[in-house]
Amino acid sequence: MGHTEFYENITTCEECDFVNEIPPLQGGERFRCQHCGHVLLSVHKFVSIRIMSAGLSTLLMLALAVSFSFLGFSSNGIERTVSLFDTLSVLLGQGYLLLGALISLALFVLPAVYLFSLLFLVWSFQHQDMLGFAQRYCLRWITVIQPWLMVDVFLVGVLVALVKMSSLADISLELSFWAFCGYVLLLLKTVSLVDKRWLWNQVAGQRQVFPKMAATAKQQGLIGCQFCGATVNGHDKHCDRCGHSVYSRRPKSISTTVALLIASLVMYVPANIFPIMETTFLGNTEPSTIMGGVLLLWSLGSYPVAVIIFVASVIIPLAKVLALGWLCWQSCYPSRQFTEQKIKLYRITEFVGRWSMIDVFVVAILTSLVQMGNFMSILPGPAVLSFTSVIVLTMLAAMTFDPRLLWDKDTVVSVSALRERKE
Ligand SMILES: [Zn+2]
Ligand SMILES: [Zn+2]
Repeated sequence: MGHTEFYENITTCEECDFVNEIPPLQGGERFRCQHCGHVLLSVHKFVSIRIMSAGLSTLLMLALAVSFSFLGFSSNGIERTVSLFDTLSVLLGQGYLLLGALISLALFVLPAVYLFSLLFLVWSFQHQDMLGFAQRYCLRWITVIQPWLMVDVFLVGVLVALVKMSSLADISLELSFWAFCGYVLLLLKTVSLVDKRWLWNQVAGQRQVFPKMAATAKQQGLIGCQFCGATVNGHDKHCDRCGHSVYSRRPKSISTTVALLIASLVMYVPANIFPIMETTFLGNTEPSTIMGGVLLLWSLGSYPVAVIIFVASVIIPLAKVLALGWLCWQSCYPSRQFTEQKIKLYRITEFVGRWSMIDVFVVAILTSLVQMGNFMSILPGPAVLSFTSVIVLTMLAAMTFDPRLLWDKDTVVSVSALRERKE
């Protein structure tokens, strides 16, 4: 496979820019960055076969989940069952194109592209020489899509919608609902088996750059690719392994992040003032805001669900903006203290952001389920789009923030600390 002139065991940490030499790992072992503790490589046992079987079963479950009816609804003698595709057709039929597009991306399109790319990639490992170009393409798709997979958030949204409806109607869980649960669990399992460095090492090694260990790439005039973990020469514009543009530190990282945070704060105002949902019951239309929905759930005694929605929709977006804003401030005027805690905060903000989507999914599910004209119907309110943009903007803000900036003033201290630890 011509890997002789390539390194597979040298990698640069994308969070602290530290060059690490990865020892040969057995199945089931993982390697953490020697400087910041970020997991750089996890090797799973029989990973190709497990990815194949988990991925194919996920696709099978997806096929089942879209084939049958998803939820049943009955109230005052009116019965209605909806499939997952009905969810989309109701939203599109009512003119909510963006919301419909968002749901189809989150539920079907992105997971399907992800799974097909992954399955093709793992299958192609036996046919290395002819498929190098397609492999790189698939692997880039996999890396880009992974943070945007939200099927688990949608499932929680379905459960919240069930609680919200339980006082108004009888809801039955149909066959596709259980298939969808299997789809979510299997997709999570598949994603947990994916390790981008392992996959990139299977596709291609990286060019030899003779780095020193126990120093940052920047200190040696090198660049760590944030996309695939390769270590490349400082004058390179693109990574020679994955083709992604490389930079020692993301240009204008802080100003981009701050701009996205300000934009999300601006959108946060209409998201909370305008109604996110309009409920029509016996001819009366009643709008409800995010907070209104939380208070209603609380008054109905669904305390856990009220807390979940309050935390996911009100607290998390604000906390995320504050945390990222503070991290930007700390990178501009760096202090050498608490860098590890700051990195932890950054990882948490990256991790929790997508859970804010719950309320958007709840509204989409209720809209598709409750469509009985003047007797009872639910429509999305204008706040849905502003609220979705808050979430997307804060997720982009977390992605554009370059965590290596937090370590920059810290590195000298930490390298000497590391040497002490080794001796
Ligand atoms: Zn690190
Ligand atoms: Zn790369």
